[in-house]
Amino acid sequence: MTTKRLYYDDAFAQEFTAQVLSCEPASAAEATIPAGTVTAETPAGPQAGALWRVKLDRTAFYPTSGGQPHDTGRLGDARVVDVVDEDDEIIHFVDKPIATGSVHGIIDWERRFDHMQQHTGQHVLSAIFHSKFALPTISFHLGSDVCTIDVRGREPTQEILDAAMAAANDVVYADRAVNVKYGSAEQLAAAGVRKTVERSGTLRAIEIETLELQPCGGTHVQRTGQIGTIFVRGVSRIRQDWRVEFACGRRAERLARKDFATLRAVAQRLNCSPQEAVSAAERVVAERDAHYKSSKASIQRIAEIDARAAVQEIQIGADGLRVVAKLFGDGSPEYVQAFAREVAQAENTVALVVHTESGQIFFSQHPWAKKDMNGLLNESLKQFAGKGGGSRDSARGRLADLQRASEFLTFATRALRPS
Ligand SMILES: [Zn+2]
Repeated sequence: MTTKRLYYDDAFAQEFTAQVLSCEPASAAEATIPAGTVTAETPAGPQAGALWRVKLDRTAFYPTSGGQPHDTGRLGDARVVDVVDEDDEIIHFVDKPIATGSVHGIIDWERRFDHMQQHTGQHVLSAIFHSKFALPTISFHLGSDVCTIDVRGREPTQEILDAAMAAANDVVYADRAVNVKYGSAEQLAAAGVRKTVERSGTLRAIEIETLELQPCGGTHVQRTGQIGTIFVRGVSRIRQDWRVEFACGRRAERLARKDFATLRAVAQRLNCSPQEAVSAAERVVAERDAHYKSSKASIQRIAEIDARAAVQEIQIGADGLRVVAKLFGDGSPEYVQAFAREVAQAENTVALVVHTESGQIFFSQHPWAKKDMNGLLNESLKQFAGKGGGSRDSARGRLADLQRASEFLTFATRALRPS
């Protein structure tokens, strides 16, 4: 039996009385309480999560659809944790069984009113993006913090976002009526509905005076003033479309406060006022870049000096090679890599070094040494867990087991000079 939807004609009905037509245990697959709707009143223990499916002859509970989440509330003394639309029937998922007969329903009004503000605000924003900026809305999502619409077309620049937000808030301040209209698809098309609808029979449409007429089965505020401030927060690319983030009413206030708290926290770290945060951050980043550059130059200079000393300490062997094999317990991997590179500047010299703290391996040779660093690394790593690669003159890798660095280096040194 088709459930009569009381919210179609009275979206402000917070309480209602209805007949319970059926109440059955939900299947295991259905019997999960949706995230965010669990309350302290939901029973704990082995029964937690067990739900019942309730059908009523009429309801004010809105089921999840059209981007707007379902309502929560009570039916008698049972909690309504989910509401879904099954063809023409609305199914209420409740946390305890209820008897057939008459039942009193109460909607969690704060949640529903918030949804109506966001949803009606979306109508206003979408109409403005479409009519003023040729950016039609492809989809809408009402999240727990922010709402988004995906629009299609050119990139909505900051200028467009600001102009759309200002125009949307003008509609709010003009406090225009939001009316429900019924008619056939032809009648609605004649009245100026933008979207073509393929459903037959009587359709429901929402009219925002002088702004738009759209087929919609959702719940809306009565006048645009009830939407409250519309706050457009930003945009990001999403496949071929643009995802515009926004929030209305108390959410807009909450988000603006949260965003400012973030800015204040950043300013506190930078020891400045929120107004100075951007220039202070620019200064810090510039300083960091300068320090990075100068420390890189210092590392290079130290590596050159150390490499020269290390090369002088090692005698050329009978095979004409000089091999500098070394474990580094401290210093940075950047230093160790520079050291290996600098050692290999000396004729016929090979550097085999491991940074024991990170397990990073650097093999480098002077081209006249005529060995194969990539081959040596791969051969050695076969015996020890790790990975890496490179070219004939230079290869780098990483040892998985840091405890075996010394063993690894001994193995590689022997493999380089098979006796
Ligand atoms: Zn709507």
